[in-house]
Amino acid sequence: MDFTLIKSLKGFSPGLLCVIPLTSKDPYRISQDLCHKMGEPSIDAFLALIEQQRPLVESLCKIGTRIQHMFLNDMEFEFESRRISSLDKCTEEQLLSLLQPVSYLETNVYEPQDDWPQQTGWEEDWPVDPTLVPPDTPCDLCHATGDCGCLSSLPKNRHHIICYGGRGRGIQAHATYRGGLVFSKGEYIGELTGELKPLNWSRDCMAVDFRRPDIYDEPVVCQLYCKERSNWVRLVNHSCEPCAVLIANIVSGKARIMLRASRDIWDGTELTISYGSGFFKRDDCLCERCEARSKRAETTLRMPEVYRQSLRLRE
Ligand SMILES: [Zn+2]
Ligand SMILES: [Zn+2]
Repeated sequence: MDFTLIKSLKGFSPGLLCVIPLTSKDPYRISQDLCHKMGEPSIDAFLALIEQQRPLVESLCKIGTRIQHMFLNDMEFEFESRRISSLDKCTEEQLLSLLQPVSYLETNVYEPQDDWPQQTGWEEDWPVDPTLVPPDTPCDLCHATGDCGCLSSLPKNRHHIICYGGRGRGIQAHATYRGGLVFSKGEYIGELTGELKPLNWSRDCMAVDFRRPDIYDEPVVCQLYCKERSNWVRLVNHSCEPCAVLIANIVSGKARIMLRASRDIWDGTELTISYGSGFFKRDDCLCERCEARSKRAETTLRMPEVYRQSLRLRE
C-alpha cells in the first residue's frame, strides 16, 4: 500500500485493508494498483468517508486483522456454525456478530446446581466440581502433583478447521512444513472442554460421559456437554480407522478429557476418533474407510452391466 495512505490512516488498524473499495472489474481482490494510484485528494475523500462511520469501520478493521492472522493461527468464526437463511435480512450488528471469532472455553465450566444428584459412592462434600482431584494426585503426563505446566504446554496452532464434504467440518493436522510429522504416537493434542453437567443430563451426541480414571472402577461422574460452549476439539470427526482417542486423564491437577494421538499423524491428515460402534446406523458412516468401501461396492455392482455392454459391442 502506498506510504502516504498508510501515514494518513491514523487511529485505524492495518485491518483497514478490508474496507478499501474494490474495483468493479475484479471485485474479490484488493487492487494494489488502486491503492498506489490514490493521490492526496482521493485519500482525503476516503478518510472523510470512513470517518463518518468510525465505529463500524473500526469493527471491520478488527475483523480484517483477524482474517490476516487466520493464515497463521486457525480461527473459527460465528457464521460457520450458524444456520443463516438469508444475509439480506441481517442488520449491520447481526452481520458484525457473525464475523466474530467463536470464543472457546479455556477450561471446563462447573456451575453448582442444588438439584445435581449426588454421585453414588462419592466421599467428598457435595455438590462439588466432579473433576477436582485430591492435591496429592499425580499428573498422568509428568507425574508431578499440583498445577504442573503440562496443560499450558500442549501443542498450539497445529490444526486447521476445514470442510470435509458430507462429514461437515473437521480438523486437519497442520505441520510447520509440508508433509511433516504433526503429532507422534501417544502425544497429547488438546483438551476437550465444555460444561460439566449431571449424569444423563443430555442425550445429545455432543454430551460425553466423563469418567474418573483415578477412582476405583473408573465411574462416570458427570457429562461434559460441548454443544453450546466448548473448543475446537469438539469438531473432531468419527472414523472407523481413527488416528486419535479421547481419554480421561488427570492433567495439571484436574480430571480432563484429552485428545491423544493413537499413531503418528502427518501433515494434512484428518484428526479422527471413534464415536463408538452404536453411533451410526448401518451404512451411515461417512468416514474415509466407509466411503472407499461403498465406492468399491458400487463399482462391483456396476461391473456386470459394463461387461454386458462390452459383449454387445463385440457382437
Ligand atoms: Zn503434568
Ligand atoms: Zn466408517
